Amino acid sequence: MAIATVNPATGVLEREFAAHTDLEVDVRIGEAHDAFLRLRRTTFSQRASWMHAAADLLQSEVDGVAHMLTTEMGKTLVQARSEVSKSANTMRFYAENAEVFLTGRYIDEPGRMNASTAYTRYEPIGTVLAVMPWNYPIWQVIRFAAPAFMAGNSGLLKHASNVPQAAIYLDSLFERGGFPSGTFRALLIPAAKVEDVIRDPRVVAASLTGSEPAGRSVAAIAGSEVKPVVLELGGSDPFIVMPSADLDRAVATAVVSRTSNNGQACINAKRFIVHDAIYDDFVARFTVAMAALRIGDPLDESTDIGPLATSSGRDELAELVDDAIAAGALVTTGGFLIGGIGWYYPPTVITGITSKMRLYREEAFGPVATIFKAQDVEDALRIANDTSFGLSSAIWTADSDEEAQLIEGLVAGAVFVNGMSISYPELPFGGTKDSGIGRELSMEGIREFVTLKSVWRA
Ligand code: NAP
Repeated sequence: MAIATVNPATGVLEREFAAHTDLEVDVRIGEAHDAFLRLRRTTFSQRASWMHAAADLLQSEVDGVAHMLTTEMGKTLVQARSEVSKSANTMRFYAENAEVFLTGRYIDEPGRMNASTAYTRYEPIGTVLAVMPWNYPIWQVIRFAAPAFMAGNSGLLKHASNVPQAAIYLDSLFERGGFPSGTFRALLIPAAKVEDVIRDPRVVAASLTGSEPAGRSVAAIAGSEVKPVVLELGGSDPFIVMPSADLDRAVATAVVSRTSNNGQACINAKRFIVHDAIYDDFVARFTVAMAALRIGDPLDESTDIGPLATSSGRDELAELVDDAIAAGALVTTGGFLIGGIGWYYPPTVITGITSKMRLYREEAFGPVATIFKAQDVEDALRIANDTSFGLSSAIWTADSDEEAQLIEGLVAGAVFVNGMSISYPELPFGGTKDSGIGRELSMEGIREFVTLKSVWRA
């Protein structure tokens, strides 16, 4: 895959970049390593002031960065702007909270260990490789970088090959805020070169956000080097609606939760599991609302749904839908390829899914919703958990017993009650089962790439 920006709305190759040579990669790893040796000697307050400055720069450049995101991967300009602002806010969040999150503790009753005092302290570990996807080209990276750099680590960025301009922008952002030169270095390399980077002794850990196969590969290599990993992989999140729910709000939220980012978010709700008593009503209203969305130029502020990021991604989505239709699924809206320029796919609603169809098991990375009918809470949980993924989930109910049963029964990294899955800097984020290992964001996120030192004093 070329390292290039191809505008998804037009299919036009806008910029192509030569991959870094092995020598260039070696120099960049060295720069990041040298930056770590300087960073580890800086204080939290020093790093916080640089992080605030970098956040201010990012926010002040929101219009240009948002335009770049829209032309690189097709998200609407409105959503691109909010991605940038959320990223800047998360940088500020870690600037303000990192020191508290990384405060060690005194051990109770040190005398039992013949010590006068004993305590723990968190320390940075070195240069961490971040392998990142194209769907939120700034946010996914900031979610890794802001805590890592506040902890005193440096980073290397292997971004998805279709968002090189975002990678180059991020390469200099932290330095422009005042961080030591080399704190973050983008590597313009194909996926096949990631193994060499993980095995480099100057690289101490890896974080990957992306697909399950990529995660398995990176984890296997890192495991053989005894280097820690965080994996944020795919999801096929359930969105459960029970009869006591506010159906108007549930339907409106379901549409946003399925289609935000043109339907290409790991935590988009993908499987809608609706109680029998309200099933027909939900399907009818959801279908009307999905069909009413405006598909078009992502730079136009009135557009709801832009093109998918890649032509191959659109082909894969269409194959999943076609497979289901061939096996007897019913399409209530959408379900066909839009001709013409750009990699558009319409909002699609499908019922009658069976376990023989690929759509039952695989993640639909685009605006395609599947709806299942459940007889009761147990049935809803059975359907929801019958997946290899376990990222997030949403439940809609006004019944507190039902709510407790669903929260406990869902095998997922998060449950959102009467709302949709969203990542917040304050809330730990990550999955279980094939959706990943470890957590990002909040206190748990910053503690992934630090080491804990125990101190015992006679
Ligand atoms: P992807 O194909 O796995 O690519 C992600 C990154 O991994 C890219 O930089 C890619 O480089 C690299 N890569 C691919 N195969 C690799 C390998 N074998 N070894 C090392 N690196 C490899 O995923 P994507 O299509 O960009 O993103 C969509 C997927 O990401 C979906 O499954 C989505 O659910 C998941 N995702 C998860 C989260 C989360 O937080 N859990 C968030 C966002 C997205 P190239 O581009 O050069 O191939």
